[in-house]
Amino acid sequence: MKIAWIGLGNMGGPMAANLVKAGHLVTGFDLSDAARGAAAAAGVSIAGSISEAVGDVDVVFSMLPAGRHVRSVMSGPEGVLAHLRPGTLVVDSSTIDIETARALHESVTAAGFRFLDAPVSGGVFGAESGTLTFMVGGADADLAEARPLIEVMAGRIFHAGSGGSGQAAKIANNMMLGINLAALCEGSVLAGRLGLDPKTFFEIASVSSGDSWALRNWYPVEGVVANAAVNRDFQGGFAVNLMRKDVGLALEAGGSTATDLPFAALVVQYLDKMVELGWGGRDSASLVKLFDGSLTAAEPS
Ligand code: NAD
Repeated sequence: MKIAWIGLGNMGGPMAANLVKAGHLVTGFDLSDAARGAAAAAGVSIAGSISEAVGDVDVVFSMLPAGRHVRSVMSGPEGVLAHLRPGTLVVDSSTIDIETARALHESVTAAGFRFLDAPVSGGVFGAESGTLTFMVGGADADLAEARPLIEVMAGRIFHAGSGGSGQAAKIANNMMLGINLAALCEGSVLAGRLGLDPKTFFEIASVSSGDSWALRNWYPVEGVVANAAVNRDFQGGFAVNLMRKDVGLALEAGGSTATDLPFAALVVQYLDKMVELGWGGRDSASLVKLFDGSLTAAEPS
């Protein structure tokens, strides 16, 4: 199929690359030179503008930082919707606020196209290995049409419900991820201070009641988990800024549903501190530095 891909960053780049590997023609657009270069090297043909990328495609995917980016990419004379063939399916896999996702369902449909909110879980490794979990909101028929493409990038695909339900699932999930991450950052520091060998403690916790996905994939002590960001000085991965955004989205959703979320609120305070100290671009497991006392530099080196 002919696919347009808007947003070729840490996640979008490898996801688009997997569609190329599966034999699809993917035309991509991104504002960043580095993202465009990496995607081109993986076989994505790079367009000079959004209109050039989407003019003649069957499906458009977007993978952008936040709701405001998705709104701006979709709307306006240079935006996606102004240049699509009638009926084209638009799939947004970014993690964005539920209100924007619902508004996009309405505006994209009103403009004569179709829309799915389809955020993902599984991180950069999941994007590279084509094993992401997709949580999809929207019509059955639209998901059926997108499914063969999503399957290339996914380990699991869930139809969460009507428009916005994919984001609802993602936001509740990532709020739990943020709280789990804070717990394992504290726990790993305490275990170390109590004299436990990090590998031994990891092995115990990962088959005991302290286990979590975050623990098994992101354990923040060097040399314990092969792909964990701590082994590369917290470069790449799932940025503090993005985790702050996601747990913040949960607080917004808590506000709009009169739900008290005290632990999420506490995690946001600590993530804000990391952002203030210049660590917003590093992997979110760098949060451990607030607990182990190693955050000596105001900015990461
Ligand atoms: P990223 O910052 O690496 O990539 C986003 C890309 O969008 C960047 O390359 C940026 O240049 C591009 N962009 C921004 N505005 C644009 C515009 N107007 N037109 C074209 N391109 C534009 O972020 P990421 O890690 O790839 O995350 C993307 C989304 O996926 C976010 O919503 C994030 O919350 C979600 N997500 C990330 C992870 C992860 O582990 N990184 C996991 C699950 C979900």
